[in-house]
Amino acid sequence: MAKLTKRSEDYSQWYLDIVTRAEMADYAPVKGCMVIRPWGYAIWERMQRALDDMFKATGHVNCYFPLLIPQSFLQKEAEHVEGFAPECAVVTRGGDKELEEPLVIRPTSETIIWAMYKKWIQSWRDLPLLYNQWANVVRWEMRTRLFLRTAEFLWQEGHTAHAGQQEAVEEAERMLGVYRRFAEDWMAMPVLAGRKSEGQKFPGAVTTYTIEALMQDGKALQAGTSHYLGQNFARAFDVQFQNRDGQLEYVYATSWGVSTRLVGALVMSHSDDAGLVLPPRLAPLEVVIVPIPKAGADNAAIEQAAYRLAEPLEGKVRIRVDDRDNVSPGWKFNEWELKGVPVRIELGPKDLQKGQAVVVRRDTGQKMPMSQDAAAFEVPRLLEEIQSSLFAKAKARLEANCRSADSYDGFKKVVERDGGFVLAPWCGSRECEGRIGDETKATIRLISDEAEECPACMLCGKGPARRVPFAVSY
Ligand SMILES: [Zn+2]
Repeated sequence: MAKLTKRSEDYSQWYLDIVTRAEMADYAPVKGCMVIRPWGYAIWERMQRALDDMFKATGHVNCYFPLLIPQSFLQKEAEHVEGFAPECAVVTRGGDKELEEPLVIRPTSETIIWAMYKKWIQSWRDLPLLYNQWANVVRWEMRTRLFLRTAEFLWQEGHTAHAGQQEAVEEAERMLGVYRRFAEDWMAMPVLAGRKSEGQKFPGAVTTYTIEALMQDGKALQAGTSHYLGQNFARAFDVQFQNRDGQLEYVYATSWGVSTRLVGALVMSHSDDAGLVLPPRLAPLEVVIVPIPKAGADNAAIEQAAYRLAEPLEGKVRIRVDDRDNVSPGWKFNEWELKGVPVRIELGPKDLQKGQAVVVRRDTGQKMPMSQDAAAFEVPRLLEEIQSSLFAKAKARLEANCRSADSYDGFKKVVERDGGFVLAPWCGSRECEGRIGDETKATIRLISDEAEECPACMLCGKGPARRVPFAVSY
């Protein structure tokens, strides 16, 4: 097998090597589109299942709205159309007829959902509606990268309707909390959480909340967003309800989403020069047992022992005995390393004599002999340890890569030399934000409620300012 590009040589190529060689995804015939292969899709399915459980535990239900949206719907909310029109794919023909009205392939579904909410909401008794859909969306992107930015991607989009502002704000914040828990507990990926600046919020939102992760090359990645939409979409689609006092009022809204981009974030959070490293909770396969036949040994007995070892673990962990006889054990080791299976168990003739097996951790490479009898309870414990150690390692990296700067010159140096999050004073103006972004490529990732107050903005010198994290981002 040819070697992967090293992270230190070319980070971007290293990422693409892993995604393609681990058979997670491939380029599609249409530029910007991606084929998600079974290994990549199995990771997405693990993510979906965990998130879907969390959505349902917080009272949401799933539904499905159509892919095609009348073009006029998008034009009803001014900021929304301005934000999305440049990247919309539009259908103008159906069969052999020109359509009377062009149809947009959904870039997001607020408009079609609010057009339907108008039919379904009349009174405060109809509220709240806590809907989510799992779907694909299309945004005509030219500069694409597998999983991280593709013209079509898979995601979930929650769209909720509420009778009051506070309730809607709480919902948007609650869902950001769900995303944060998912990122940390499942992806083993620590994040910063807060609000987006005015210049970076979702088109049509009052407030956009975000979680931001740090990749190994020091760039930030927006991993999930939740929006408080106020009454903007209710006004655009004239969705009013009769409140408890009998008066008509526009409905309050939120929307929130995460996408297959998270698979890319997962790859870049933990992987190394040998390939993918997966946190056990999201690994399609957590343990692979590789019997190691030897010339002259009782190879049937080795294989039987491998299945005996797997048996008490089945149903507890996702496990497979790799008994393929058309490839060598060494080839199998490489393949499962490349694919990021957290634990490999090797079983050869000598191990069999000693009643043991050799357990190998994917994240550290550590090899440990383990008694075959102990495997049934030692392996699940080891998987939990790997999960938490991946998080601890990523958390230490995040903390080591949060730096401060006070002057603009100092800021530029840190951004250039170290990357990561650079906390620096900003006055809150869109103008300063824009100029800093143009000159350094570093953007304000979020504004936190706990942001430290500073006397002066690093660029314009005006005060009061707040210390916010800047970073170059994906
Ligand atoms: Zn300023």
